Amino acid sequence: MTGHKTLDTLFAETSLEGKRVLVRADLNVPIGPDGKVSDATRLERLLPTLRDLAAKGAKVAILSHFDRPKGERRPEMSLKPVADALAELAGIPVAFADDCIGEAAASAMNALANGGLLVLENTRFHKGEEKNDKGFAEALAANGDIYVNDAFSTAHRAHSSTEAIAHLLPAYAGRAMEQELDALSKALGEPERPVVAIVGGAKISTKLDLLGNLVAKVDALVIGGGMANTFLAAKGVKVGKSLCEHDLADTAREIMAKAEKAGCKIILPDDAVVAAEFKAHATSRTVAINDVPDDQMILDVGTSTLATLAGHFETAKTVVWNGPLGAFEVEPFNVGTDTAARHVGMLTKMGSMVSVAGGGDTVAALNGAGAADDFSYVSTAGGAFLEWLEGKTLPGVAALEQP
Ligand code: AMP
Repeated sequence: MTGHKTLDTLFAETSLEGKRVLVRADLNVPIGPDGKVSDATRLERLLPTLRDLAAKGAKVAILSHFDRPKGERRPEMSLKPVADALAELAGIPVAFADDCIGEAAASAMNALANGGLLVLENTRFHKGEEKNDKGFAEALAANGDIYVNDAFSTAHRAHSSTEAIAHLLPAYAGRAMEQELDALSKALGEPERPVVAIVGGAKISTKLDLLGNLVAKVDALVIGGGMANTFLAAKGVKVGKSLCEHDLADTAREIMAKAEKAGCKIILPDDAVVAAEFKAHATSRTVAINDVPDDQMILDVGTSTLATLAGHFETAKTVVWNGPLGAFEVEPFNVGTDTAARHVGMLTKMGSMVSVAGGGDTVAALNGAGAADDFSYVSTAGGAFLEWLEGKTLPGVAALEQP
């Protein structure tokens, strides 16, 4: 599916000794109340690219945005603390330049030894960044001979440091970007069939593009969570006090019709866990889907639905997952999501399928189930993962596919 060049292509093409490489990373990591990085997952995923470039003797400068300074220099949104955390994690010194363009960036780059590492200050301190301004991209590119994008999570945005710059320098995908693109391509590009997609979450209004794209590509689409209620109601099922977008009944019917035409089987819950209120350990029970009482709400899928899903998982070769099957944050309404996630995780571990998950609450839900590590790939790129699942072109990825 992808025609991007990788670091292996780069290393085969040219010697990197003393070359200036600009790496677009996602250093937009969470910072705790003590001003320190509280979750270093994104930094850890960046290390293979940095290590490989350093080993080849390149001078590496990292470009990234941080938070939303909206084109202004905001000291509290400086990347300096992140650069320090990166140095600690990588176990090597990391220089810092207090601007990503101009003299500060140029002299810091020049001062780097071969194999040295530098973080440039927040790209969004400049207004040009979010406008994908060519002049700003040229100012960034002035400090590099080669561009490497390792930030899939920002690839859905056409910004100067993710898009315009890739047209100005020879451009390559970093290791983490390559891994993400490979995983996604396996899941929906040329997947092994049958492909089962699971889409859950609160509402269909936020996932219309997603559902529309998936029904054209997958063999079976499991709809769970609050959004299943809208489909059930559109089929005439009484959903009581459940979360339901009744005004989208026609849209739900259109999606079901599109699925039927495309040969995609839509799987809706045939039973549900219901309660009178949405609160932890509320009295709940499992009822057949046609027996939801008027004064109760659907908060999870039931055991019969889980048995149906298990049958589909057993034969699936590929599973793509976005969104929980129930209100998983509150016990016991996590049981459906947990059970299904563990089953997919186990089958993946046994080698019988490829499973890819991501977007929004999905990572939290799979972590809660203790299943995330067993999936083939869990994407931490929320917006970019969803846009990819929606079949949209990601500008930051497309820009890497220049001839
Ligand atoms: P989303 O961000 O669209 O993936 O939705 C995730 C949210 O959907 C989570 O906060 C879940 O608690 C919620 N959710 C899932 N199933 C239900 C349900 N049956 N009723 C209400 N909320 C639900």
